Amino acid sequence: MTPLADLLARRIAATGPITLAEYMAECLLNPQHGYYATRDPLGAAGDFTTAPEISQMFGELIGLCLAQSWLDQGAPRAVLAEAGPGRGTLMADIWRATKGVPGFHERVEIRLIEASPVLRQAQAARLAGAPVQWLDSLEALPEAPLWFVANEFFDALPIRQFQRAGNGWREVVVGLDGTRLTPGLTPPAPLAELADRLADTKDGDVVEICPAAKPAVGAVCRRIAARGGAAVIVDYGDWRSRGDTFQALENHAFADPFARPGLADLTAHVDFEALARAAHPLAASRLTPQGALLQALGIEARAARLAQGMSPEARQRHLAALRRLTDGDEMGTLFKALALVPSGAPMPPGFTPAPALVEAAR
Ligand code: SAH
Repeated sequence: MTPLADLLARRIAATGPITLAEYMAECLLNPQHGYYATRDPLGAAGDFTTAPEISQMFGELIGLCLAQSWLDQGAPRAVLAEAGPGRGTLMADIWRATKGVPGFHERVEIRLIEASPVLRQAQAARLAGAPVQWLDSLEALPEAPLWFVANEFFDALPIRQFQRAGNGWREVVVGLDGTRLTPGLTPPAPLAELADRLADTKDGDVVEICPAAKPAVGAVCRRIAARGGAAVIVDYGDWRSRGDTFQALENHAFADPFARPGLADLTAHVDFEALARAAHPLAASRLTPQGALLQALGIEARAARLAQGMSPEARQRHLAALRRLTDGDEMGTLFKALALVPSGAPMPPGFTPAPALVEAAR
């Protein structure tokens, strides 16, 4: 039993089962025992790896995409913000790649939204010399034109999970079997938030919602709507939440999410439709597979350029990284990107506008 499992078991014994969102929040961000609060989980020696850690090309292309969008909107004084920057690799690659963009480094300041003190240190080391400040939440962003990026941030936000029962829903909660943490289901009840999902689900289907996503997107998009800018959000997931995607990763392998709380990474797929709706009145791009986006941004040419002068071994690794980022059976289609811009503004390069969502934000 981990120290956090013990703590949660005592809390559940005293006050009853907790939602998956409460469980996930404790596991990831409990100040003493939380997964992100206590470690750097990234890379080969960690539990999982991410696109910017796989190749510098990811951050370079995203950086040029954001900088072009900034030029398209008149190159204003602006904030470049990233949520959940991990080791700071994506932002370091963005910053290096945009060095030659006229005015960008003079007129743009970086804000990083990071909950983990361990990772803040890693980010400070990677970004030494760049104009960086850290913020505790997206609400704390200044009221300024904003170019925003997040890779594998929204998948770390706590979710609630529901199973359809007739015209109601049973919520997945974490309870106790003896002293062991175990998932269970509440009695069925109607749920206004999922009323629109009765049309496309059947008895027994599982649907997830991420309560923290809406205020997070809202804080970013209010600023973009008022002052200009763009958001580029990359993550695994799909246009609409369907099925149980709650998962634990430990040492690059799937694990039981209830076995070792605080010691495994917990994530769920991102429901991009919910993000696009929360971004109202911004215009959303089509949901674009990561592979297609990187191809459109010129990853093949960049890869060929970088390969010049590499040793055969380095070239092998480099081409494997290219495939990993773009191939359909690797990260190329599971990972998707969504861009959000003020309505009427051009989409960032690599993105095409989506047909307008029929109804306003839920
Ligand atoms: N974007 C990075 C890291 C992804 S891991 C990459 O692609 O490599 C998730 C990141 O989100 C970590 O930096 C983690 O500490 C941060 N994070 C998770 N929940 C958060 C929250 N509620 N507020 C701020 N940062 C959070």
